[in-house]
Parts: sequence; structure tokens; C-alpha cells
Amino acid sequence: MTHKVFWDDPYQTRLMTTIARVEADRVWLAATIFYAFSGGQESDHGTIAGQPVLLAEKTGLDIAYSLPPEHGLQPGEQVEVVIDWPRRYRLMRLHFAAELTLETIYRDFPGVEKLGAHIAEDKARIDFALAEPITPHLAAISQQVQAIIDADLPIISAFSDPLQQRRYWEVA
Ligand SMILES: [Zn+2]
Repeated sequence: MTHKVFWDDPYQTRLMTTIARVEADRVWLAATIFYAFSGGQESDHGTIAGQPVLLAEKTGLDIAYSLPPEHGLQPGEQVEVVIDWPRRYRLMRLHFAAELTLETIYRDFPGVEKLGAHIAEDKARIDFALAEPITPHLAAISQQVQAIIDADLPIISAFSDPLQQRRYWEVA
């Protein structure tokens, strides 16, 4: 299974690792810092051995990276993985802003149903099923979220279920 270094150090932008498996244009890595679309957050952009990653997708608990068909990489080969850091940092910040907003809305609207979420480089969106428009409440929600940010408390992030690789975050 791919060792997900992005959970040990989400700020790592380069990694030396080895190719674990190759299937046509798809490769799997022994270890990775390259996030694949999950939890509504878009995949990283970047390169493996200097070749552009065209698609990063979860395959079970592993991640497959699609490279140009002529990539020529072999299992066991040493490669460097580089991610587009400005993009990833935007995704991380917007993801956590969305998490804080989500938690605030869960508290303000008990029992509210979340339909989905999408975290992109330029914006993050969460969809809810509500009987009334949420617009009149946005200013108050925004204030609550900003108050948590301004408190600048440590963020704990860890596994709630290591086998299924499910994670949680906590701010006291
Ligand atoms: Zn999330």
C-alpha cells in the first residue's frame, strides 16, 4: 500500500520514492505526497520523474497516477514526485475554511442535511438541503468562522479509523 506522506507532513512539496507498480499509463508509488481527489477536494497537480500527472485517482486505499503513455517507467525505479505547491496550499486553506463553515452550520442548524462539497483552487462550495434560504444567516456564520480562525488554536488531525484511513480534525 502507498505510504501517504501527505498525512505525516502536508507541507512537503518534493519526495524521492520508487515506482511500486505499472499498468500501461498508470503507475503506483511506494510513497506519495500527491493527493488524489477525495472528500470533495480536487487532486494535486504536479510531476512524477518530470512527467505531468494527467489523473490521480484512488484505487481502494492506494492511488494510481496516469502519466503520458510514453512514460517508460518501470517498477523499482527511483523517481522524484513534485507537487504544484501554490495550488495545493490554496486547496488546503479552502478545504479547512469549508470544514469550519460546515461545522458552524451543523451547530447553527441541527439536523441539517449536507448533500455534497467541492474544493477547488479558486473556491470551495458545500451544498445543504434546507427548507429556507441560508442567505440571511451568512454574515453570522462568517463571523463565527472568523472568530475560530482569529483564536488561532492548534489543529489536531489524526486517524479516527486507521484501517479505513478515515481522518478527523479537532480544534479545542
Ligand atoms: Zn474534509
